[in-house]
Amino acid sequence: MKPTLSKAAQQLREQFDDTFPDRDRRSDGWIGDARHSSRPSDHNPDPKTGVVRATDTDRDVHKSGKPDLMPDIADQIRLAAKAGDKRIAYVIFNGRIASSRLGWRWRKYTGSNPHNHHCHVSFTSKGDEDGSFFQIPLLGANK
Ligand SMILES: [Zn+2]
Repeated sequence: MKPTLSKAAQQLREQFDDTFPDRDRRSDGWIGDARHSSRPSDHNPDPKTGVVRATDTDRDVHKSGKPDLMPDIADQIRLAAKAGDKRIAYVIFNGRIASSRLGWRWRKYTGSNPHNHHCHVSFTSKGDEDGSFFQIPLLGANK
């Protein structure tokens, strides 16, 4: 089965690209490499549907790396989830993770990669076919 990226993940990436067309994409990613596929990861395609439910976005939304907006963007993704966007499963950035566990508060991330160079967002299956606009102020929200 041909792997496809979740519609919600495609939409989030589009909002990054529309807002920051010149951003650095070197740490971008979506589908798992061999290292990922040896363990459970949202970067691996769903065995039944082929949907990949995760994206990595390079921290440097400006090529120069400045201003360093990803800490605020990651926080706004978290807040969109907290406000009720059920397509977002969790966010990992800068050694921290936020999910519905503990009410979307940031907590220490103890995985092997602290995610200092990219922001990881995992999506629920609700986002597989739902590519509606994310209400994230730094990513073009209109309200
Ligand atoms: Zn990732």
